[in-house]
Amino acid sequence: MPDSPSTDPLGQASEASHAAALLLYGMQFAVFERDGPRHFTAVSAAPIWFERLTEREPATDPTALTEYFPALEGFLPMAEEFWQTASTQSLQSDFWTEADAEGIEYHLLAIAVTAGPRHFLAIERADATYINHQQLQLYAHEMVIQCETITRLNREVKRATQAKSEFLATMSHEIRTPLNAILGMADLLAESHLDADQQKYVDVFQRAGANLLGLINDILDLSKVEAGHLELESVNFELAEVIARVLELTRVKATAKALALGSSLAEDLPPMLIGDPPRLRQILINLLGNAMKFTDAGRLDVEVSRDPEDEHAGALLFRVRDTGIGIASDKLDVIFENFSQADSSTTRKYGGTGLGLAISRRLVELMGGRIWVESTLGQGSTFLFTVKLGVCDLPSLVAASHEAAARAVTTPTDLPVVHILLADDSEDNRFLIREYLKRTPCNLEFAENGETALGMMKFRHYDLVLMDAHMPVMDGYAATCAIRTWEQQHGGRPVPIIALTADAFKEAVDQSLSAGCDAHLTKPIAKATLVEAIRLHALACDQPPQSVPAPIAEAESSLSALAPRYLENMGKQLEVLRLAESLEDYGTIQRVGHNLHGTGASFGFPRITEFGIALEQAAKDRAMSKIRTAITEFEWYVQHLLAV
Ligand code: ADP
Repeated sequence: MPDSPSTDPLGQASEASHAAALLLYGMQFAVFERDGPRHFTAVSAAPIWFERLTEREPATDPTALTEYFPALEGFLPMAEEFWQTASTQSLQSDFWTEADAEGIEYHLLAIAVTAGPRHFLAIERADATYINHQQLQLYAHEMVIQCETITRLNREVKRATQAKSEFLATMSHEIRTPLNAILGMADLLAESHLDADQQKYVDVFQRAGANLLGLINDILDLSKVEAGHLELESVNFELAEVIARVLELTRVKATAKALALGSSLAEDLPPMLIGDPPRLRQILINLLGNAMKFTDAGRLDVEVSRDPEDEHAGALLFRVRDTGIGIASDKLDVIFENFSQADSSTTRKYGGTGLGLAISRRLVELMGGRIWVESTLGQGSTFLFTVKLGVCDLPSLVAASHEAAARAVTTPTDLPVVHILLADDSEDNRFLIREYLKRTPCNLEFAENGETALGMMKFRHYDLVLMDAHMPVMDGYAATCAIRTWEQQHGGRPVPIIALTADAFKEAVDQSLSAGCDAHLTKPIAKATLVEAIRLHALACDQPPQSVPAPIAEAESSLSALAPRYLENMGKQLEVLRLAESLEDYGTIQRVGHNLHGTGASFGFPRITEFGIALEQAAKDRAMSKIRTAITEFEWYVQHLLAV
């Protein structure tokens, strides 16, 4: 091996080569040119490390390099392939470590390079790079371990939170049931003949019980949200009505405290929204309740406008203003935490648990918004929150139903004799619609699923089909498609089909319209809405129209008379649910839930509609713990109603 760089006849080139050789030496590179397969000649002076390593044992063929560095055995075949490609890049080996005769370690790296037709192999002493590389690998390894630990801890925390919330939800429920009986008894006792002392004891009994019930309900709500049990409803509602009801509830107390109460709704708000009105009401009542509690003089106001930071028409900004005691600036965030109050003396002075705002915050967040407060001590507070609600742009019927309802109470409808086929698997729904149409000239026939409906309409002419969307055997969408195909094949005049679903979302409307339905009604369906839909869509019949004497005015009262029968049936539904729960029969649970969803509110029990929605969704998600909770609450509710 030559120990000095080759010389060039031209002085300049020779000097450059010399400089290059010096540089390579200085950089501790040992550079070789490939003469043939596995055969190398040194092109620069060997650095000291190279000499120390090659001194260890004499090699039989020093040009082979692998005699000195067996680690190259693995790299050279790859380098040979690389050199054949004539690439202008370089190919680098993995690090390997050699020790000299004294045991000093050297971390080495080989690099294959092509320069025109010539092939070079450089071996570099790369201790510093090696150490960096090792450290990076160590960090990467630690990061992976840390990531795994964080993921595991996160999972454990979530599981623990879930378990805690489920425990709280169950406990609150279990406590609420006997507490209800206690409070009921206290009420009865209060109505009996008591002397002054006894009356005082019962007062305490009632007040403390009511506070406890309020606290338990709050905990139940909070744990429901935390455990993910609280699902928001999506129903059409009027914002103005929600605000009016909230103010109605607050007015008596405000008057007693001589506080003025006002509200203002911006003009550009959508008249009909889609969302969860009971939960929206709950947030507003919490905020107004606080405003009332912490205000001794002045006024309370509720204002609603479009959210200036969100263009969506359903994005709203609510403001609840008071002229009360105000909140210190360092407490403005804390008060939204669980069990948190601005001042330690608050409970003593004003009562409360510090849960109302925590619940409100969670509800607002579930509605896609945020809540915050602006306040000045001694001058008052303004609680602001945003929510993202759906805007009801259903084609015609929902909005029309209000006009219809208003019209229907004052004017008799002029329904013609209409032959209607109602396809619905729910006995309660069939019963409900029969009751609705009892005093109209409509002739109703029933089918329990889409397939039966299809068969019936092939043999008989109907003026209108009311088609429930979700049914066993053949659902309403499939049945509508099949009816439309049959009509095309047989040249029949298309029968108007009105879809009935519990789903108010636009997708459900689109789905029924694209299946071939003419209109879509969202359950729970008011009688006026149904009658109006029939009037709008039923075909003109041969018989002359007959006027119906004041059908609507008596409708709702006739239904409320049927409530006991409906509740009795709820007992049966409960048994079915319990059985289905033990068999994990999600299909039945979903069907019963769907039935409750569609009928509860119509019979005057909106809470049953809520249970129905929860059961239906939980069965769809196969969420057994949610199903159990919903059934338990439903059972409690029905028992309570039956006991009243
Ligand atoms: P609670 O009212 O039951 O204590 P909340 O979570 O509703 O619980 O409220 C938390 C705390 O925030 C209250 O205890 C009170 O200190 C403060 N707070 C809430 N609303 C107002 C308000 N309108 N004016 C002054 N302080 C308020």
